[in-house]
Amino acid sequence: LVSREHHRERTVVRVGGVPIGPGTMTLIAGPCAVETPEQTLGAAQMAQAAGATLLRGGAFKPRTSPYAFQGLGEAGLRILADVREETGMPIVTEVVDAGDVELVASYADMLQIGTRNAQNFALLQAAGESGKPVMLKRGMNGTIEEWLMAAEYVAQRGNLDIVLCERGIRTFENATRNTLDISAVPVAQRLSHLPVIVDPSHSGGSRDLVLPLTRAAVAVGADGVIIDVHPHPETALCDGPQALVDGDLRELAKLVRDLPPIV
Ligand code: PEP
Repeated sequence: LVSREHHRERTVVRVGGVPIGPGTMTLIAGPCAVETPEQTLGAAQMAQAAGATLLRGGAFKPRTSPYAFQGLGEAGLRILADVREETGMPIVTEVVDAGDVELVASYADMLQIGTRNAQNFALLQAAGESGKPVMLKRGMNGTIEEWLMAAEYVAQRGNLDIVLCERGIRTFENATRNTLDISAVPVAQRLSHLPVIVDPSHSGGSRDLVLPLTRAAVAVGADGVIIDVHPHPETALCDGPQALVDGDLRELAKLVRDLPPIV
């Protein structure tokens, strides 16, 4: 269902009216984790002022350590909904458990499935039945074929509003948090009609890499990027070192706006 053989034209997925697909370079930005109403609104206003059209923010956080901040759960979803009300930005937020899909879908404009759940088939199927667009991150140890098969689990349940997100994979290299597999973008676009975006924040894991990796995403023809921003990254409860501050985000947004794909 997600292959180019099934559907030759590339698909445009609309999230609360915002298109992601061929001809777009959609900027999705916001905090890694929703922490407080002030922090979320602050991040959203930074994102919107820079030109982002969708707001990201995690209320359910899949953390490596059980002692790390796990997210605010439904209270975080309520904050996101309030910030959407205030800014008009549709929201993208992660769901980590099949049992939470209905709850998260009642707030979200797009469900995010993270790298750690990239082959959680029950979750993929539940997301496929949610009636909401799904952003599917590539598993950190997943091949492109496994990623597309994960998308197939969503599509099989009648939902073809799927956006693929390359977020870096595990390799022997440890100078970066993950290795951004930039070649996955054109390969996935060749094999599938679905839009493909890039997450330069989680791939590099470091603020100084976000702009160069975004340049690479634009150059290679990605359909969008998803970026972590925080009004005060030094106090962030999750992934502060990779969050952009206002000036950096504006520079990045200008690049996204002004740099056409190199063809
Ligand atoms: C995120 O985007 O908040 C996230 C946890 O990403 P990933 O699943 O790519 O690690």
